[in-house]
Amino acid sequence: MPAMFDAHVHFREPGFEAKETIASGSEAAINGGITGVVMMPNTRPAIDSATVVATVLEIAKKTSRIPVYTSGCVTKDRHGKELAGIDGMKNLGVKMLTDDGDTTGDPAVLFRAMQYATEFGMFFASHCEVPELAGPRALNEGAMSYRLGIKGSPACAEEIIIDRDIRLAHAAGAHIHIQHVSSKLGMETIRWWKQRGDVKVTAEVAPHHLLFTDEDIGDFDTNYKMNPPLRTKADNEGLLEGLIEGVFDLIATDHAPHTPFEKSQDFISAPNGITGLETALVSLYHYFVATGKFGWDLVVKRYSAEPRRMMGLPAVSIEVGQPVELILFDTAAETTFTKDFMKSKSQNTPLINQTFKGSVDLVMVGDAILLERNF
Ligand SMILES: [Zn+2]
Repeated sequence: MPAMFDAHVHFREPGFEAKETIASGSEAAINGGITGVVMMPNTRPAIDSATVVATVLEIAKKTSRIPVYTSGCVTKDRHGKELAGIDGMKNLGVKMLTDDGDTTGDPAVLFRAMQYATEFGMFFASHCEVPELAGPRALNEGAMSYRLGIKGSPACAEEIIIDRDIRLAHAAGAHIHIQHVSSKLGMETIRWWKQRGDVKVTAEVAPHHLLFTDEDIGDFDTNYKMNPPLRTKADNEGLLEGLIEGVFDLIATDHAPHTPFEKSQDFISAPNGITGLETALVSLYHYFVATGKFGWDLVVKRYSAEPRRMMGLPAVSIEVGQPVELILFDTAAETTFTKDFMKSKSQNTPLINQTFKGSVDLVMVGDAILLERNF
């Protein structure tokens, strides 16, 4: 089938190379059947100017075997106050603007950015969270947070900004993309706006928000700590419904590597995020395709064609006369996500050391075989 494309990854370079580099992150992508990615700009320095974009693209050109695109910040250093160097980044091909990791704090600044950058054909991607409501961002507010005695982050902290940012885009005539939606009501908010049809809104869902709930945290397992947090079974079901219905245009992993040391801290101190590039396709097959919840057509559309389209790239297809960008997926084989299997520098995933149905056996781009397994 066509190779996948992930529009939401954290490659941590520059600044956090112990967690991941562009080299290791892009090898992790290939290992999972993905041949193109969009980096988030919450590096150090943040990707908020032409200078940093140029550095990142230069490193990618030297160290990655697949195309690595980068988003740029909406605001300087993602502080939510002053506009980033938007036109300089545009000149280097940046299309997506986001302060991912945080919401763009000041709505007036975001509104102004939308009015300005839309003329350049750029679009906005929103990490949705009211920081005052989200508290220490540890986990969903509900039965589990009460039991663990940790202040939770209620789903409304996310839903308020989903609505705020779509309204801003509606008023500014901008394209808004809602990132990593975790709540059912968040999905319904996006559906409502899409049904109106008078604002360009797209949205993504991450495999972990379809698969896990806050109950999985169990004994404070930090591999289940991410932002937005895991919520409830009803949210899982609502998100799956939204994916099948097409409320979600994309599947994206929010691949967020952290070192074992960082993740071994207590639940509140440990950083948010799990890795996803190497586990996404196999886990989507194991849990959803093999069980008949949805077909490969959905996976190819939502994890290959649509993310490329959002980035202004042509969808890849397997046809005579078309360039080769494909994977072979063996449905009869299995994959165990051991430390040795993983190419990412970090293995902070709850799927570590577990075995799943399916295996990415070949990744091919043009004449180059980027990965071969089980032959
Ligand atoms: Zn985020």
